[in-house]
Amino acid sequence: MFDWVIIGAGVSGALIAQRLSAYPLKLLIIEKENDVACGATKANSALIHAGYDAPFDSLRGRLNAEGNAMYDDLAELLKFPFKRIGSLVLGVGAEDYTALTKLYENGLKLNIPGLKILDQSRIHQMEPNIDPSFEYALYAPTAGITEPWEVAIAACEYAMDQGAKLLLNTEVTEIVKIGEHFIINGAIETKGIINAAGVHADDIYRLIDGEISFAISPRRGEYFLLDKEAGGLVNHILFTCPTYKGKGTIIAPTAHGNIIIGPNSEKVEKDYVNTTFEGLHDVKQNALKMVPNCPLHLNIANFSGVRAEPSTGDFIIEESRIPGFINVAGIKSPGLSAAPAIAKMVESIVSDIHSRRGTALGPMIQTPISRRARLHFSELSEAEKIKAIAQDAKHAHIVCRCEQVTEAEIIDAIHRNAGARTLNGVKRRVRPGAGRCQGGFCGPKVVAILARELGIHRNEVEQERKGSFVLSGGVQDE
Ligand SMILES: Cc1cc2nc3c(=O)[nH]c(=O)nc-3n(C[C@H](O)[C@H](O)[C@H](O)COP(=O)(O)OP(=O)(O)OC[C@H]3O[C@@H](n4cnc5c(N)ncnc54)[C@H](O)[C@@H]3O)c2cc1C
Repeated sequence: MFDWVIIGAGVSGALIAQRLSAYPLKLLIIEKENDVACGATKANSALIHAGYDAPFDSLRGRLNAEGNAMYDDLAELLKFPFKRIGSLVLGVGAEDYTALTKLYENGLKLNIPGLKILDQSRIHQMEPNIDPSFEYALYAPTAGITEPWEVAIAACEYAMDQGAKLLLNTEVTEIVKIGEHFIINGAIETKGIINAAGVHADDIYRLIDGEISFAISPRRGEYFLLDKEAGGLVNHILFTCPTYKGKGTIIAPTAHGNIIIGPNSEKVEKDYVNTTFEGLHDVKQNALKMVPNCPLHLNIANFSGVRAEPSTGDFIIEESRIPGFINVAGIKSPGLSAAPAIAKMVESIVSDIHSRRGTALGPMIQTPISRRARLHFSELSEAEKIKAIAQDAKHAHIVCRCEQVTEAEIIDAIHRNAGARTLNGVKRRVRPGAGRCQGGFCGPKVVAILARELGIHRNEVEQERKGSFVLSGGVQDE
């Protein structure tokens, strides 16, 4: 019998698990896909928003501000990349000025540090490549960039290091309440459930409550990812003024020195993550309005992610009317930024439930100081590289030439808790295939390493989702 089952291994579920793993609880994370972070968490703008955007009196506003402030400590604990590079919302004309002022005032009510409206000369000094017509910008120094999937992977790994269990490839399709307990899929017994199923959170809740009071509608956002050669195009996260559809188009550096451009916002079916000519065309036009010399010919990948738009307009984070069942639903943007604060809020709801049941949560168990950092060979000095090779000769074998990833890094990514099981899973963790050739050279080598390390045939190695086999037909054994 588990104390808590968390449904969904996105950034919300993973950080909730990480937080609850500090207590002596039996925890299980159930995920329908074959890896952690396969929903909205793997395909978004990767920004830790400063927090001036969502209304000051909403849960989104409060948790964004709180979550942003928690990121430095969390990045240190979980060893994921995080840089506060600051953001600029660019404006021109009186209408934009009014919009920027509203954002500024909203931000002040949320105590967002360092907000300023900057004048023309200052913004062109800070960003020499933006269109000369921009007249001012809202500057937020606390906005940052991260690697969203790595936040979730690190949190899951940390929770598992503390004893939490992760069940992949398991879609929750049935929940029955018997007395005080729940039975999931006819087999998994738990005292409580935390529903963090992203765009499917309404479907999950409907399994236990026929009179569900919210719905989730999916909204897709599409992106360009430019080669590192375009790095330096912009120094900050650049937004256009917001429209009713979202925060406006962004151009931003990524945590690894690429440039990300997007997203648009279109209504789609759930999990509809294809990209379209029309959508990308709109993104491109908006990008060129911001940065006229934007080198879109350096594009190396397009992708899209689907937002979980709640019918209530705000995050839904509460114990439902089914006692012991907590919804963490409608976690649209800025859900990544807010995630640490969402996890803290859920911890407090869980604590209240335990007090009501007379089984107090505490005391916290002893936790390790921090997650073991990944060793990124390409980031080491020459002396450190020699030392790394002396410790593990597989660091002398560069598998991915673009990103300089070694075989030892890939093996480590596979064998950690919440380790990689697919080609893209390895790519998200240590980046072979994330460079200019997008895996053209290293893909087959990573397939062979995955097969060897997992003890499976190369024909069984998947690219991404279940059944997406990389190879088919007769592959000869070496
Ligand atoms: C285009 C776009 C841009 C964004 N940009 C930003 C940004 O820059 N900054 C920011 O703060 N936020 C941003 N967001 C929002 C952010 O990505 C999300 O708020 C966050 O990733 C939500 O995480 P989650 O864990 O709640 O959901 P998800 O990551 O979607 O995870 C839900 C998980 O539940 C699993 N699941 C679903 N159904 C079942 C089932 N029946 N059984 C088992 N498992 C199930 C899914 O497979 C999935 O892994 C953006 C979102 C999008 C789409």
